[in-house]
Amino acid sequence: MAQDDCIFCRIIQGEMEAEILYQDEKVVAFKDVNPQAPVHILLVPVKHIPSLKDFTGSEFELVADIHEVAVKLAEEQGLASEGFRIVNNCGSKGGQTVNHVHFHLLGGRQLKWPPG
Ligand code: 5GP
Ligand code: ZN
Repeated sequence: MAQDDCIFCRIIQGEMEAEILYQDEKVVAFKDVNPQAPVHILLVPVKHIPSLKDFTGSEFELVADIHEVAVKLAEEQGLASEGFRIVNNCGSKGGQTVNHVHFHLLGGRQLKWPPG
């Protein structure tokens, strides 16, 4: 179920604007409003699940679905040959600020390691 107070649910439902790059019945991908790299896309499940630690059972299949879409988008965005990064921030110390689980697809510049 969508949550009224969740910005990503509102984007998925078309109530809030975002540049959507991919959408099916399970996964939505849209551009991050504050990009940290030339390509910065957020991938979310349509289902409102607060964070990765809240997945149970077959919900984990969504993690694979999201990665399949992420790789497709990385190819479309021309990142596949040079490389890219997929990140999930989980919980406050993991740096999560929006409580609808999401994976970041970042690329188009040399990314540093370790992250801050
Ligand atoms: P987190 O810090 O939770 O891993 O990532 C949240 C991400 O959501 C941030 O990169 C932030 O820029 C992005 N974000 C926050 N609000 C919005 C919004 O309203 N629209 C879009 N497209 N991205 C958002
Ligand atoms: Zn949500």
